[in-house]
Amino acid sequence: MIDRHYRIGYGEDIHRLVEGRPLVLCALPIPYSKGLLGHSDADCALHAVADAILGALALGDIGRYFPDTDPRWANVASRYLLEDVVDMMGDQGYQVENVDVTIFAEEPKLAPYILAMRQKLASLLHIELDQASVKAKTNEGLDAVGQSLAIRSTAIVLLKSQSSPKVR
Ligand code: MG
Repeated sequence: MIDRHYRIGYGEDIHRLVEGRPLVLCALPIPYSKGLLGHSDADCALHAVADAILGALALGDIGRYFPDTDPRWANVASRYLLEDVVDMMGDQGYQVENVDVTIFAEEPKLAPYILAMRQKLASLLHIELDQASVKAKTNEGLDAVGQSLAIRSTAIVLLKSQSSPKVR
């Protein structure tokens, strides 16, 4: 029998790296001289995850729900955006089976923060640590990411239908 209870989604995001902003990736504050520029806290990793979940459910993208013209989302922590998306996913009767995030950053070195980022992500998505992958790569000096002008992130999620969908 074909199992139709799984859906896959992909998301990606990029933000400029500038002085005078805190760096937040996967909801984890990371010590660095620069941070990501955006309307919210510009956490490109969580934005990619949110877009991947919305994509899996064919619900559009985060710009549709959290427009950067809306003052409500100014400087808001992206974890709140993701929590709203996770609620939408629950309303659709789905939960995350696993997520795989890749962050492309020339600097700072993210290896010391990978475990803490996975823990944050697992907590936000209500999954176990072994269901939440975060990887970090440089861009080999190429393009804007390689010149430390931006940080980019991609995310793939697999969703599975809940055995007992949440009743609204
Ligand atoms: Mg973004």
